[in-house]
Amino acid sequence: MKKHNFSAGPCILPQEVFEKSAQSVLNFNHSDLSILEISHRSKDFVAVMEEVRALVLEFLGLEGKGYQALFLQGGASLEFLRVPYNLLNVDGKAAYLDTGTWANNAIKEAKLFGETVIVASSKEENYNHIPTNYTIPEDASYFHCTSNNTIFGTQMKSFPKTAVPIVCDMSSDIFSRTLDFSQFDLIYAGAQKNMGAAGTTLVVVKESILGKSGRAIPSILDYQKHIKAESMYNTPAVFAVYTCLLTLQWLKKQGGIAGIEKINEAKASLLYNEIDRNTMFRGTAVKADRSIMNATFLLENPELQESFDKMWKEAGISGLTGHRSVGGYRASMYNALPLESVQVLVDVMKEFETLYST
Ligand code: PLP
Repeated sequence: MKKHNFSAGPCILPQEVFEKSAQSVLNFNHSDLSILEISHRSKDFVAVMEEVRALVLEFLGLEGKGYQALFLQGGASLEFLRVPYNLLNVDGKAAYLDTGTWANNAIKEAKLFGETVIVASSKEENYNHIPTNYTIPEDASYFHCTSNNTIFGTQMKSFPKTAVPIVCDMSSDIFSRTLDFSQFDLIYAGAQKNMGAAGTTLVVVKESILGKSGRAIPSILDYQKHIKAESMYNTPAVFAVYTCLLTLQWLKKQGGIAGIEKINEAKASLLYNEIDRNTMFRGTAVKADRSIMNATFLLENPELQESFDKMWKEAGISGLTGHRSVGGYRASMYNALPLESVQVLVDVMKEFETLYST
């Protein structure tokens, strides 16, 4: 039996991505070469890069709107500093919304570059909600937010209306829900959740916001250099980029973002309904801000942890242990996780209640 993988990332990918990428390691595209040995300048790989970049813009509804899609390296963590390098004016300020550990890590990097204003934070409440009452300084070079807080299980349902360029870390919910993506000027996301193998980061950037920071930018950190080189300024993470293409091809067959969003909502309501109904558990995030990707919950009686852990492990579930900052459990329900896996978890929770409720 294959495990029901609720891991926060790297995580489950569609079965056909596992199969096709495994085949590509043996023989890529009938070339008699492995994807691991072909040149990134070969016709076959250039075609992969072109197709995946085009598919990204198509899914996000951004073709012909002045955006470029790039597949870079260094993880989302490198974008924490590449963003201020490229966008924070030498004598300007950046505005950040502090909604969790990753937002905080982004803030730490921006502070190395210049004035960084934290417009609001939910840190005092252990990041259990998304702050809504804040003002973005009109003279900020950009406003940075994290659409989905992987660790705390919260998700921004709407984004501020502002004339300041919006930068969004979508590492853990990219391609999972429909949004007007043209409200963002720069989106970035590590591949290892909804896109593919770890090793590449998607950056989608509106070209018109670049080249204005007044900073000298080292080439490898310069978005404009990567755009000019068609995302091949240096050797791209060939295999990881290929898995992203395979995942997006799979996503197309699911009806694109709108198609997968319906399934994601069904998975999330199945689990949250059970968390709310079941007397043994309690959700940690404020209901209105609950993430449809990462559901965080606690046992009402922590002494029963060992018994519950034994039950879900025996049911073939993996990756359910919560992050140490929240404790308890975190069920990550990325695009490729089937509804059936969530049903298995819900059945275990029900059985647990039958056995242990007093
Ligand atoms: N941002 C978010 C929202 C994340 O969930 C993560 C990792 O889980 C990161 C950034 C860091 O990503 P990376 O490990 O690719 O640097």
